[in-house]
Amino acid sequence: MMKTPDWNNIEKRLIGWRRDLHRHPEASHQEHWTTRYLAEQLATLTGIEITTPAATGVVAYLRGIQPGPTIVFRADIDAVPVTEQNRCDFSSQQPGLMHACGHDAHSAMLLAAAALLSQYRQHLHGEVIFIFQRGEELSPGGAKELVDSGCLERAQMFFALHLQPNLPCGVIEVKPGIATANRDTFHIKISGQGGHSSMPHLAIDPLVTSAAVVSALQCIVAREIDPRDSAVISLCSLQCGDGSTARLPDSAQLCGTTRSFTPQVRQQIRAAMQRVCCATAEAHRCRAEIHFEPWDYSAIDNDQQLCQLAARAARNALGDHAFRVATQPMSVGEDFSEYQHIAPVCFAWLGAAHPHAENHALHSACFSPNEQALIAGVRYYLSLAIESGNLTTAIAWTG
Ligand SMILES: [Zn+2]
Ligand SMILES: [Zn+2]
Repeated sequence: MMKTPDWNNIEKRLIGWRRDLHRHPEASHQEHWTTRYLAEQLATLTGIEITTPAATGVVAYLRGIQPGPTIVFRADIDAVPVTEQNRCDFSSQQPGLMHACGHDAHSAMLLAAAALLSQYRQHLHGEVIFIFQRGEELSPGGAKELVDSGCLERAQMFFALHLQPNLPCGVIEVKPGIATANRDTFHIKISGQGGHSSMPHLAIDPLVTSAAVVSALQCIVAREIDPRDSAVISLCSLQCGDGSTARLPDSAQLCGTTRSFTPQVRQQIRAAMQRVCCATAEAHRCRAEIHFEPWDYSAIDNDQQLCQLAARAARNALGDHAFRVATQPMSVGEDFSEYQHIAPVCFAWLGAAHPHAENHALHSACFSPNEQALIAGVRYYLSLAIESGNLTTAIAWTG
């Protein structure tokens, strides 16, 4: 039997949800309003079981009458600490917080997918799990706690969509294999000994030492990493001194992030940074301590078969032109990689560019995705459920 969804009506509700969420951004791990909102919307859908395995975020289950696979769709729900510069009637009402990474849209698309699948539950096999995950932006992200909680043990495949403002609107792009980077966050403390700025020989200067450490760290990627691999070491902050020109400071603090695409390079960078920091500091009579945050994110490794399933799903629901294969991973970090400890995963980008306007990057205070992309995301989710064997009804994609 062919189902003909009322796409116009779905799109209207979907954009309404997205705008409600956009007005109310919340910090990572503190998404209380968002959690209540999502749970209220999900509660209106028939057959959906709503659970809250963590303090915020929702995991919802929709079970079919027939046996079949367990497929998981994951959205994230947290905002980014940035003050929105866009002016519109659904701008962020929270100074210092904004849905600048599109997680409002991710949640709205997943709500719409849940609404449609709940309508078609008499044709549903196995189980669909909808994750509205908290705390993606802040490690340890919300994915790890869900994996550790055991609530996803039945899962056989995981799919996620992320908006991409540099990709044409409604295009799905997948990178088979490694799709994002290993992300590490580090903090360095350089200890010297303060003194009179006219008598540097009686002090141990942490500022000049910091400058040497910053330069030396840049030589790791340039001179130690195989040029066929790629990596990033970015120092993002250097704090030293208090503005006084009369005194040399006692210590300096630096922090930053690294990106790599293999476990070997990740390990090599950590070891090299440790060595370079300590030896460079020692050469200048200072002492360096470097600390890497535990639980930072690993690279997403997209499963080849799930990528093929995603390709069929995108082409069927959106047309051949609306699917692309990327050849290079992105250097962003994403905790969706945690789910690959349970089952194969497929993380896809959803193009949200405006064709005739400037498209601001993710995390920009001016980020403003093309809302026409959202209905394409919902069609993709529905099509995935058909390709996976969870939904056994044909959908009228046009009309
Ligand atoms: Zn982000
Ligand atoms: Zn994001």
